[in-house]
Amino acid sequence: MDRPLSANSQGPFAVAVVGGGVSGLICARRLSQQGVHVTLFEAEPLLGGEIRTRTFAGHEIDMGAEAVHISAPGMKELIRELDLTDALITSNPGMSWLWTGRGLRRLPAGVGPSGPLRLLPVLQSGIMSIGGLARAALEPLIPRRTLSGDIGVGEYVGQRFGHQVVERFVDPVLGSLHAGNVYKLSLRAITPELSAIADLRASVMLSRREQKAGPPLSFATWVGGLSLFVDRLLAGTDVEVRRSSPVDSVARLPSGRFQIQEASGVVLEVDAVVLALPARIAAKLIRPLSAKAANILEQIRYASVATALVAYLLDAVKNVPALNGTGLLVPSSKNRLLKAATFLTTKWSHLADPNYFLMRLSSGRADEEVIDQLEDSALVAQLHNDLVDATGITAEPVQYFVQRWPEAIPQLEIGHLDLVRQVREELESYPGVMLAGSSYDGLGIATCLRSGERAAVSCLTLIAQ
Ligand SMILES: Cc1cc2nc3c(=O)[nH]c(=O)nc-3n(C[C@H](O)[C@H](O)[C@H](O)COP(=O)(O)OP(=O)(O)OC[C@H]3O[C@@H](n4cnc5c(N)ncnc54)[C@H](O)[C@@H]3O)c2cc1C
Repeated sequence: MDRPLSANSQGPFAVAVVGGGVSGLICARRLSQQGVHVTLFEAEPLLGGEIRTRTFAGHEIDMGAEAVHISAPGMKELIRELDLTDALITSNPGMSWLWTGRGLRRLPAGVGPSGPLRLLPVLQSGIMSIGGLARAALEPLIPRRTLSGDIGVGEYVGQRFGHQVVERFVDPVLGSLHAGNVYKLSLRAITPELSAIADLRASVMLSRREQKAGPPLSFATWVGGLSLFVDRLLAGTDVEVRRSSPVDSVARLPSGRFQIQEASGVVLEVDAVVLALPARIAAKLIRPLSAKAANILEQIRYASVATALVAYLLDAVKNVPALNGTGLLVPSSKNRLLKAATFLTTKWSHLADPNYFLMRLSSGRADEEVIDQLEDSALVAQLHNDLVDATGITAEPVQYFVQRWPEAIPQLEIGHLDLVRQVREELESYPGVMLAGSSYDGLGIATCLRSGERAAVSCLTLIAQ
């Protein structure tokens, strides 16, 4: 028997936010601050979605997202609003390594996720061949074609700078970040600044020289990890939170309102629903409303990834020169399970430990199923072996913990913006259904916060009508 949760048909405008990751949490916060009655449904016992902190070797360490980009638009203001500014810890300055055919090389200054901004540091880094570098230097002279539609970031950067830049920089930096294939990831969705340059038929290198330098990339966390940030998002609000409450269906009633049903059978009637969920789950929920929207959402693919925390005895590794860096990136051409390593002890002052050197090892990319086939111990053993080959470390880890993130990283592939536009247009026929989160608007905490805030604004606009 369905049990009604609360009778709110006579009360203020009621919104169900489905999904308690950062997108759903900020949306719920903003709506509640405007007097909207919000019920937030989260499938898991904990809020935060891809933000999850656990105690490891006596420290609070993040297993999913590990840092917020504090220079992103609106981020500093939100942190201030949450009264978390004073406790903020920024990452230590330091260099990252790239694992190249000739061993570890410093990731040169002036290399962004989409290629080099300056050639001199790249030349000095020894990462590119003379031929590859000469080709990259020709970028301003390469004919600029009109770009109709979308192409892969890898293809665009390859056309402009040559494919060595893609393989040696774009793949390990941007590809690791998105756990994807840079030839499939969308120029329009992933690198809007490059997309704008392409539309102007301008040179990437010359345009960037002319651009004013944006705020430096600056990453931060708190001693309690990012869960502290998550916990603050609903503090002091009237949001009704239903943990361990996966939503099973969303139905539109003849009145135009919506009935939300939990897997347990509990039902709730609301005026609007924000699906702050991965597209593959949102597709199931909205199929009864619109098969067209569901079919579009199902085209978005995901990469499964796994994060392993490992602790080495400090005395056993402190003389390994590579560990002076803050981490390392591994290009796909290496064919390794290890995609990236973060040297937590070097990167974060609060994770410097008298006994242990702590690391976070990342694995998994789109179309790579190997992590699903490995038990935790085998996964860690293989990641450790890759690390041995990359850094020359000889000690074995004395503790580890593995967190798997199945189908976690949405692949914003060629045509992604069109897909999202089509699905949002289709949903305009069902006023009151909104989408928020990384599957639609892009990866990363700052982007998801903006996505959740936009959904809240759409709800408020609906109320005002
Ligand atoms: C390993 C890893 C490392 C990352 N590192 C960083 C980083 O350092 N910095 C950064 O900015 N970003 C990072 N990211 C990306 C960032 O964490 C995500 O883009 C962002 O947290 C996604 O938020 P979201 O709200 O869109 O989705 P999610 O966090 O996926 O939240 C969706 C929520 O919906 C819930 N849910 C699912 N089904 C249902 C249902 N039927 N009913 C109710 N609830 C449901 C889920 O349990 C989940 O809590 C990382 C991601 C991963 C996986």
